[in-house]
Amino acid sequence: MSKKTQVYQQLASELRMRYDYGHSVIFGTWNGFEVILYPADARYPFMLTASISARNPDSIMFTKDELTQFCKDNKPVNFLRQNGNMIAMGFKNNPNPQKLQEAVSSSLNVLTNMLQNRGYAPCCQLCGQYTGTSNYIANSQYLQVCSDCAGKIHQDMSMAVHANQNKSENILGGIVGALIGSVIGIICIIIFGQLGRVAAISGIVMAICTLKGYELLGGKLTKKGIVIGCIVMIVMTYVGNRMDLAILVVRELNQYIDVDFFSAFRAVPELVKQNYIDQGAYMSNLVLLYIFTVVGIVPTIISVVKNRKNEGKIEQIG
Ligand SMILES: [Zn+2]
Repeated sequence: MSKKTQVYQQLASELRMRYDYGHSVIFGTWNGFEVILYPADARYPFMLTASISARNPDSIMFTKDELTQFCKDNKPVNFLRQNGNMIAMGFKNNPNPQKLQEAVSSSLNVLTNMLQNRGYAPCCQLCGQYTGTSNYIANSQYLQVCSDCAGKIHQDMSMAVHANQNKSENILGGIVGALIGSVIGIICIIIFGQLGRVAAISGIVMAICTLKGYELLGGKLTKKGIVIGCIVMIVMTYVGNRMDLAILVVRELNQYIDVDFFSAFRAVPELVKQNYIDQGAYMSNLVLLYIFTVVGIVPTIISVVKNRKNEGKIEQIG
């Protein structure tokens, strides 16, 4: 059992709440309010956020000062936000189960008391009706909504997925978008190259901007788009590196003779062949750039696939 699971299980049982292992969410009732407890950022499993959907009958919201004051008065609380009917309380990172439990229960007590004093009552996060709600997760967002609203979200999402699937891919637009995106990558390669460095960020920018460019002008990013994007990246990374070297050649040679950028650009392979440009350094630079590009491609593709998998899905917690 991972430490996260262990801590969450213990926390849920001490708070007298339930733990949904599949969604990594703790949920239950606290002082009459439905609470969802989850890590807002999966990289920090012990930095939890508690969400409560509730409203005041006159829809009177807390003022900014009140929200700030709440955080000052409650040490374990990192932030308190109110967005429509949703109140989110973020806790500071706390990997110690005992302290985490104390932090959550004491802050939830203060918050729910404050809500009761202001006449807040649990409601549907979307329509605001004081009816029974259930907890859902849709597009990686946690929701407390009534069954009507849950049905409506499901319908809207299915329609959006359907529309997206039916959207035709404009390959020509995609190629143009990928090329425009890759120019941003080239600019990065040149800027860092002129500073004498091969930076990981250049490859990552190249990968992300090229694929995003394809998606933006091509309508959507399909497998075909990823392949085209990769070809664009391979070519443009080479071009970027060659432009970087050409600028260097112009700068070096201009002390002795007049050389323009395009002649220098054309001469780069010959200069490498003759070892005027160190062959070893040239190759290692280029290989590094390609490695960094792959570093950028992989998470971009993973996030595309993950988004597609969760697209149009609304799941009940618990
Ligand atoms: Zn509703």
